[in-house]
Amino acid sequence: MTTPTTTRTTPALAIAAGLLATLLVPAAQAVPADAGTAAAAVAPDIPVANVKAHLNQFSTIAANNGGNRAHGRPGYKASIDYVKGKLDAAGFTTSVQQFTSNGATGYNLIADWPGGDPNRVVFAGAHLDSVTSGAGINDNGSGSAGILETALAVSRAQYKPAKHLRFAWWGAEELGIVGSKHYVANLPRTERSKIAGYLNFDMIGSPNPGYFVYDDDPTIEKTFKDYFAGLGVPTEIETEGDGRSDHASFKNAGIPVGGLFTGASTRKTAAQARKWGGTSGQAFDRCYHSSCDTTANINETALNRNSDAAAYAVWALSS
Ligand SMILES: [Zn+2]
Repeated sequence: MTTPTTTRTTPALAIAAGLLATLLVPAAQAVPADAGTAAAAVAPDIPVANVKAHLNQFSTIAANNGGNRAHGRPGYKASIDYVKGKLDAAGFTTSVQQFTSNGATGYNLIADWPGGDPNRVVFAGAHLDSVTSGAGINDNGSGSAGILETALAVSRAQYKPAKHLRFAWWGAEELGIVGSKHYVANLPRTERSKIAGYLNFDMIGSPNPGYFVYDDDPTIEKTFKDYFAGLGVPTEIETEGDGRSDHASFKNAGIPVGGLFTGASTRKTAAQARKWGGTSGQAFDRCYHSSCDTTANINETALNRNSDAAAYAVWALSS
């Protein structure tokens, strides 16, 4: 768990955080126990076939570029170009932010959906880089593809949210959340204060999945929990990846964060296997950071549920 920084407790930011919490509360109160019906009525179902099609593209990109999509390697830039092409065609305003890490150029892709209150930004992100040992289809093709398809659903629906929507695909996460740190460090304080919430998706299709929700911002956490409760799928608080992904860059700047995770190298317990199915005593993702993190390393049900949950939260928190 990341220790809160001193800046987070300064009066100005504490007041700002309080205001943001207040702004977020009405949305949550408008969709209480029956959250599933109210917001799900407007949030579209994300077609898992489309999410899988993006994973197939990431797999092909890796195969054509030395087997990976890692920072500083051609497969990473090709991944950026693929995602950017889809978003540009769908009407997003995209920008590519460059940075340097380990002597190589890295890239963050930022995509804004035109419209919505620019002073209240709902932000979803995922890291797009893999490790060098493989194609990184679960880690983190899954989160990247899930939010890409959510963004494309925003375009298909021509959604007009009350708040402004922003999506990002981060570079060099695997080198120590470098890309997202760079983004937040270069964001003026006034721009940081406009981010009502940052939602992180890093591994959402683990082959032996768990259903984990970050316990950071209470409103974001409740939104995700409401979605899974509506499906009758029990969740647990995420602990394995705490501070180990891009949400930490935002959290350390005092921005409310949340997210979803289906597990990495930690083993599923017997109790977890009873409630979620799968294999107890086996890692949630046996191919974590390995060459076998391929398109075969994905549980389609988990990918589907988590992609739908991402869309549900984006709609519910921005409406
Ligand atoms: Zn990851």
